[in-house]
Amino acid sequence: MATVCCGRSGQTSTIEGVSTTATGTLTDHRAEFQSAYDELKARGLKLDLTRGKPAADQLALSDALLALPGDGEYTDAAGTDLRNYGGPNGLPELRAIFSELLQVPVPQLLALGNSSLTLMHDVLTFAMLHGVPGSERPWGREETVSFLCPVPGYDRHFAITEALGVRLIPVPLNEDGPDIAAVKAAIAVDATIKGIWCVPVYSNPTGDVYSEEVARELVSLDAADDFRIMWDNAYAVHHLTDWRPEPIDILSLAAEAGNPDRVFVFASTSKVTYAGAGVGFLGSSPDNIAWFSHWAAFQSIGPDKLNQLRHVRLLKSAEGVAAHMEKHRALIGPKFAAVQEVFERRLAPFGVGSWGDPKGGYFVTLTVSPGVAKRAIALAAAAGVAITPAGSTHPYLDDPDDAVIRIAPTFPTMEDLTAGLEAFCTALLLAESEHASER
Ligand code: PMP
Repeated sequence: MATVCCGRSGQTSTIEGVSTTATGTLTDHRAEFQSAYDELKARGLKLDLTRGKPAADQLALSDALLALPGDGEYTDAAGTDLRNYGGPNGLPELRAIFSELLQVPVPQLLALGNSSLTLMHDVLTFAMLHGVPGSERPWGREETVSFLCPVPGYDRHFAITEALGVRLIPVPLNEDGPDIAAVKAAIAVDATIKGIWCVPVYSNPTGDVYSEEVARELVSLDAADDFRIMWDNAYAVHHLTDWRPEPIDILSLAAEAGNPDRVFVFASTSKVTYAGAGVGFLGSSPDNIAWFSHWAAFQSIGPDKLNQLRHVRLLKSAEGVAAHMEKHRALIGPKFAAVQEVFERRLAPFGVGSWGDPKGGYFVTLTVSPGVAKRAIALAAAAGVAITPAGSTHPYLDDPDDAVIRIAPTFPTMEDLTAGLEAFCTALLLAESEHASER
């Protein structure tokens, strides 16, 4: 994780209105932290900083969708009637826009239903039931199927594999992607490993961005023929600064490495337009796409192409998507800045925590002293502030260090966010001082 701050000591801080100077040890401040926390609890707050959802003002950026495609508008550029069944690959115009943004050729990019998680679940379910190109047998007939889970990572990824009976193996996530030495070491001794979860751009929850070097290593791994990389590019266009990650053409890298079928690319417009009423995308090699389409044809006679048409009319082009995302940035950039400001002011003076300053995505990862995350979150909850449960960044919801906390700043109003962060810092300082006293 790109850690920007480790607290320093000896600075002036404000504990919910009480000015203090952070000298001495955390233990020295315990009584003061306790009374700040008691005061907080008495206030009876009710704030929720748990899930990474867009706020209402972000959703409103796409409200033109509610009137699109408009009266009498139901054909695509080729004149196809989109009100009817068919078109299983999705609208070509929409696939063209996202082809450019995701570095996937249009024929290899499907625009499907409203959720990329559904597509991840489908890919893995089809793999379990039928195997993938290169499988000797369906994955489900193997005694054990295992997946590598870079940590900290996304709880819903881990949950999909867990729900399908897949064994989850954590590997560390570095600033430039999964720890390749750990990945290689795991694969070398465990033939049951069939894949790895990846969020290559502004990873959930650290905000880390994979390097091309790590991407090349992943597609070149000496792994089983049916090993698959679940390349979830959910935050490809979700920038918070002017910096842009170097685009990684992962499918070409895989083909160059002699493993053309190794990667499934996923994305959606859930955090571009409407979360839950957007469009999900699946990109892969021609063979993998043919495989997916074959099995998906038993499930559906085609996606909601009218929803896809209204997305084309709203977003228009890759440049249109980028312009739209700038409007999101204007709304959520200040919320991410508020996280930095509050942590810097409240935690840094006491040397508590280290946290990332992501250049995009939806989350900030805060790392606290080992053994403190659960207690801090429980204290916050008892004071009416809900934080994503400790452990949710790890397989089986188990962070062995009990140290990683995911902060999701986008959904609350600015006022609720800052109140929630202040309250959370009060709870965390108490938890850290309790922990320091026990040592
Ligand atoms: N992938 C990642 C990494 C996410 O963070 C999220 C949303 N939190 C999703 C997928 C969900 O995508 P969708 O709405 O397309 O199912």
